[in-house]
Amino acid sequence: MREYQAWCFDLDGTVYRGEEPIPATARFIRKLRKKGCGVFFVTNNSALTPEHQAEKLARMGITAAPEEVMTSSVATADHLVSNHGTLPVYMIGEEGLRMALETAGHRIVRQAPDAVVVGIDRAITYGKLADASLAVSGGAMFVATNSDKAYPTERGLVPGNGAFAGLIELATGVSPFYIGKPAVPMLEALAERHGLAKEEMVMVGDNYETDIMAGIRFGIGTVHVDTGVTRAADLINYREQPTYSLSTMDNWEDI
Ligand SMILES: [Mg+2]
Repeated sequence: MREYQAWCFDLDGTVYRGEEPIPATARFIRKLRKKGCGVFFVTNNSALTPEHQAEKLARMGITAAPEEVMTSSVATADHLVSNHGTLPVYMIGEEGLRMALETAGHRIVRQAPDAVVVGIDRAITYGKLADASLAVSGGAMFVATNSDKAYPTERGLVPGNGAFAGLIELATGVSPFYIGKPAVPMLEALAERHGLAKEEMVMVGDNYETDIMAGIRFGIGTVHVDTGVTRAADLINYREQPTYSLSTMDNWEDI
């Protein structure tokens, strides 16, 4: 098995389930830290700031620095700066997105934005959707933090950001530019921030259609773990296979 220097972990279904850590992954991360490998956390969740996400990991006994957490919100803010500079932005989203945009130097405006950025907003209203649609129709760039149509809660699947971005797409006829997995800009932003080379990076995740696809498209190693959404037995349905498929990270032998 190859030695990778920069390990990028999905969170839910890979590092933890809800509020419970997945022990094999937690053990593996401790070994990586002892060895001095880079450990990063890559999440489509746009609502939490890296600080809050790091605190959540700490509560489960997993050490993480906020700088090691790449959220789809931080990646969105970085992507806009890298490709378009700092912009007046109309935002639909929560604290994680607001903080990321402002920290990167974007200005959040209500009128005449250059970009409309859509992340999960559990206080979304018709007014916000109308304002966003009008701005997109008027020529503003349309960027969505991630395309997840639904996400799991204790009650079952509830609408995700992809559902709201899809609503604006349907209303305007303009397709959003997606940042989070399975799109590559989030891994690009992570590599750029930390000066990582693709050869040293590996993406670890439970979901073939987000984590593994993002890794394959970006051109880095991938490890599927059978601890969440995509069962190992179902990998056969996909044409391109992950570099490695393990039941848990306890089965990685090199470390
Ligand atoms: Mg997952």
